[in-house]
Amino acid sequence: MVKRLLVRGLLNGLAALLLLLTAVAPASADFALPPLPYGPEALEPAIDATTMTIHHDRHHAAYVANLNAQIQAHPELKTLSLEALQGRISQFPEAVRNNGGGHWNHSQFWAVMAPPGQGGAPSASLQQAIEADFGSLEGMQEQFNKVAAARFGSGWAWLIRRPDGQLAITSTANQDNPLMDQPEVEQGTPLLGLDLWEHAYYLHYQNRRPDYIAAWWELVNWSEVNRRFAATGDAPVKG
Ligand code: MN
Repeated sequence: MVKRLLVRGLLNGLAALLLLLTAVAPASADFALPPLPYGPEALEPAIDATTMTIHHDRHHAAYVANLNAQIQAHPELKTLSLEALQGRISQFPEAVRNNGGGHWNHSQFWAVMAPPGQGGAPSASLQQAIEADFGSLEGMQEQFNKVAAARFGSGWAWLIRRPDGQLAITSTANQDNPLMDQPEVEQGTPLLGLDLWEHAYYLHYQNRRPDYIAAWWELVNWSEVNRRFAATGDAPVKG
């Protein structure tokens, strides 16, 4: 009898606690950390499992949590998709720029990588655009590697499609990206972005950023890059 009363009391207490938590917790439509589309070990040997786990579960998770922490002060964040936010980032303070950018950048980063041998190849139309703007795939990669190696400090290297239809290689500082309406950002549609922060490679490569960049090409998920290119209108724009 006493035991049953105890259990009932405990259950009532739990129910009250749950109600209280629901009342104080932020509404459910906050920004969310997407799961990795593969296991943390799937990108080895180019990127080791420990780096992937820390990068996704701690770094990316922190960007999401810190972005959500801004919602109370900036409730309009609730009305914007993560992608739409990038194009209006200038209307928000630095914390939204850094963490909103960090969330978008990493979400694309996981998506544009695939286990070695599973990333496919550029589509015929992407290949054609790459050849038109860089001479060859190797020419594009060479320019990308150069820009990525030259980024001082932390940031990202990008293959973008400019509003005029041309492909270009760019780089952004910190967690900025080519969707942002910031004067120092060259705007365009990001097709492929590489994380150049030391947290992305330091455990395995230490200061050898060029080795990380070279190994990373083995992981590019061309199927996803093709999809992003097709979404921009696909066919090369004639001048
Ligand atoms: Mn990162």
